[in-house]
Amino acid sequence: MTQVHVERLLRQELGLIVVRLGDAHGLAGRDELSGELVDDAQVIELREDRQLSHARLARRAKALLVALGNLHAGTYGVCDECGKAIPAKRLRALPSATTCIRCQAWREATVRGTAPATIARRTVGRRRGP
Ligand SMILES: [Zn+2]
Repeated sequence: MTQVHVERLLRQELGLIVVRLGDAHGLAGRDELSGELVDDAQVIELREDRQLSHARLARRAKALLVALGNLHAGTYGVCDECGKAIPAKRLRALPSATTCIRCQAWREATVRGTAPATIARRTVGRRRGP
């Protein structure tokens, strides 16, 4: 993929997300509580689902913006964590990827609190500050 092609893909997805975020914002808070326990529980659950969806979309939009920034900085396709090239296959599947699969797995395990000590954060080759 050329840089122009990658940028087009990233911007297209970002545009779709911005539209969806606008739609989600328009829906927020429309359902009123009725005072009926079961109905209100459903309304609250629906609101929570919308908030989670909104948060996911916002995270995705941020990832796309980071990838676009990396593209312009000339660091697109380089893992944020280990500094190695992200395999082309991963970038084709997820053009906004900013980490290799191994580092992404480590990040997700860290967030969940399940990162084993054997893959504790590496310091050699990291490109980010502490
Ligand atoms: Zn990596």
